[in-house]
Amino acid sequence: MPLVDLYGHDEIRALLGDSADQGKLPGSLLFHGPRGVGKQRLALWLAQRLLCSADEKPCGTCRDCEYARNLTHPDLHWYFPRPRLKDSDPDLSTVMDDNQEGITERLANGGLYSPPSGSDGIYVATVRAIVQQASLTPAMATRKVFIIGDADRMVPQEGAEFAANAFLKLLEEPSAKTNLMLTSSEPGALLPTIRSRAVSVRVPRLDTPAMRAFLADPIVSAALDELGAPRSAAERLSLAAGAPGQLLGDESRGRSIAAARKLIDAALAKNESARHAAAMSVGGSGARGSFTDTLDAMLVLVGERMRAALHESDEARALGASRAADAVTRAREKAGGNVNPQLLTARLLRELSTSLS
Ligand SMILES: [Zn+2]
Repeated sequence: MPLVDLYGHDEIRALLGDSADQGKLPGSLLFHGPRGVGKQRLALWLAQRLLCSADEKPCGTCRDCEYARNLTHPDLHWYFPRPRLKDSDPDLSTVMDDNQEGITERLANGGLYSPPSGSDGIYVATVRAIVQQASLTPAMATRKVFIIGDADRMVPQEGAEFAANAFLKLLEEPSAKTNLMLTSSEPGALLPTIRSRAVSVRVPRLDTPAMRAFLADPIVSAALDELGAPRSAAERLSLAAGAPGQLLGDESRGRSIAAARKLIDAALAKNESARHAAAMSVGGSGARGSFTDTLDAMLVLVGERMRAALHESDEARALGASRAADAVTRAREKAGGNVNPQLLTARLLRELSTSLS
């Protein structure tokens, strides 16, 4: 799925664009403003503009623009809080793989995502990776752009002073070919040493026309449905209050819905090995959210399938979905007891694969 367009923020875009054209854009920027107003999306837009190789920037059609929009541009580096890795001292490739996984997850929803959970952070191994990548020459464009979302989640770690100092030095004096953009909804929680080294840019709430345009975007409405946001446009508009990211709920709910959808997809694949792999992922290292939350989310999704089938007067499908809902409810009751989630899931997926279509 492509990255959803940036809506609104016209004034700030014009300002940043003019500064860039005049060569006056500060090397280190801090975008701050309410959670969910699109600070990281704005940074991605500016990154695309900086990487674009056409005269009218961002042209949207050059190779740099295309890669930036797909988040595959080798000179665009996007970091944000992630769950702490099991290995306390992971090597560079482990950090890069984990970050890529995070980007893939975000891109699966058009670049819309829930706020990070309380335990997610930007750990020192990631800071090291940023410093290391910043030292390399650009791979494709004339510059490199680093976006560090929710930068207030950078975790100071004892014994990591060297990496921290290297990062501060980078922030203070990025090379002429490097741009750093930090974002934060809680700039007060940023380390003062970081805050003082970047030029602050306040990102305001979106106005109503921009909000309406955003909510009408098909990628947005599909992603909001997937992440379990309220259904009506009026409700979405009022809940968001100019910060559409607010609609994406908390991280745990988004994760539960995503995990539930993965399990249902595995059941629909009608393929035993797909079901087995999905069942094994429950409660394993890739586990997201608690098992019972995932089952609750499955119930919501199966209920939606039933309503959709009824709407299309497809009684057979509706009946199948209703049987699936019963099976999920039974599993939900058992999940409270002392059972192995993987075995329970394997059995549930077998049942769902025969009832769902
Ligand atoms: Zn371009």
